[in-house]
Amino acid sequence: MAAEAVKEEAEAKPKVEKQTNCLACNKLIKKLKRYYRDGKFYCSKKCWRTFLDKSKTEEKK
Ligand SMILES: [Zn+2]
Repeated sequence: MAAEAVKEEAEAKPKVEKQTNCLACNKLIKKLKRYYRDGKFYCSKKCWRTFLDKSKTEEKK
C-alpha cells in the first residue's frame, strides 16, 4: 500500500508539464535565455508580448 500512497501524493500535486518550447514561436527554449512570465516560459520578452497579443486577439472572436 505504501507505493499506492506515494502515487496518490504525486497525482495530487499540480501537474507541471515540462515546457521546453516557446508558446509564441514554438522554438526550443534554451535554459539560459528563457523568459518566465505567468507560470509559462518564452524564449524572449518579445515572444511573451507576441503571445499576449495573440491571446487577446483570440478573446475578441
Ligand atoms: Zn519565442
